[in-house]
Amino acid sequence: MNALMNDIEVIKTKHSKINEVDFDHLSFGKTFSDHMLECDYKDGKWQAPKVVPYAPITLDPSAKIFHYGQSIFEGMKAYKDTDNNILLFRPLDNFKRLNISAKRLAIPELPEAYFMEGLKALLKVDSDWIPKNEGSSLYIRPFIFATGKGFHASPADEYKFVIATAPSGSYFAGELKVLIEEKYSRSANGGVGFAKAGGNYAGQFYPTQLAIEKGYQQVIWTDDNTHEYIEEAGAMNIFIRINDTLITGPTSDRILDGITRKSIIELAKKEGIPVEVRKITVSEVVEAAKNGSLKEMFGAGTAAVISPISGFGYKDEDFDLPKLENTYASSLKKRITDIQTNKVEDPFGWRY
Ligand code: PMP
Repeated sequence: MNALMNDIEVIKTKHSKINEVDFDHLSFGKTFSDHMLECDYKDGKWQAPKVVPYAPITLDPSAKIFHYGQSIFEGMKAYKDTDNNILLFRPLDNFKRLNISAKRLAIPELPEAYFMEGLKALLKVDSDWIPKNEGSSLYIRPFIFATGKGFHASPADEYKFVIATAPSGSYFAGELKVLIEEKYSRSANGGVGFAKAGGNYAGQFYPTQLAIEKGYQQVIWTDDNTHEYIEEAGAMNIFIRINDTLITGPTSDRILDGITRKSIIELAKKEGIPVEVRKITVSEVVEAAKNGSLKEMFGAGTAAVISPISGFGYKDEDFDLPKLENTYASSLKKRITDIQTNKVEDPFGWRY
């Protein structure tokens, strides 16, 4: 590992952009740091990763990413504590999931050291880009795409792995009203829903636009077969609180195994919150909304950590969620972000 670390070549930018950035007013994922990690797959193997200045990438028009969508990504965050330590949250889980996605998309798997040591080398160079303000972080986007040439519909012979980073503020602002989807689906059994494949998100945009036109911000995905089971909230896993019990669906071929989701399950259990991982139907949620036992719904994912849902629409009817004083969403979000930013002990060993 250390040998590789010493091997990572660093080519520094001559023109840092850091003084142009207003770290007090960051939006999400729109400002990019000075450097990126780059690593090519060719001649049957991953070549040595390099830290290079952040810059456009030139590709052949026949590169298979353009035609067959062989692309996968991850999303993670780096924080700084008051002693300027650089902190990551469960990064090995992101690495493992990247390779799960790679396998499903017929992309060659990446060696662990290239990901971990590459990431560390990049964060060291761009350490000043990690925001320290409350609620801000350095959003990290590792991705792999097919650079190999040819119009033949088959896996490429060349790929590029990149890690780019963006100092970011919070992801969602304001309330989140969601529409429970009755027609479209984001994934199917035997498909790629469990992978972070770029195409999964392309397929979500149109149904989400339709929901936005109707006055919602996000779609609640239901199963492709019956549309009767609740699956995910936009690009987040979903949690539903009925009375005091927190419920989330089991992961499957169709659902991304979210790192925030599994952290919330463990954390909630440790805090004594009753947690159920089981299938949950739309009718159960609608019934609970009608009889007052539906207390909370929230999305969970790296970008927003937890996004409380204020109401949902289903079959031309709108349901509001109660405005509670003390929510699971706010206490769990605080616990997770306190662990991420080294404000409290981490009994789970998640902080890195
Ligand atoms: N579901 C989908 C479809 C996602 O894109 C994400 C974001 N990666 C999540 C769930 C949440 O996963 P995580 O908590 O690992 O960010």
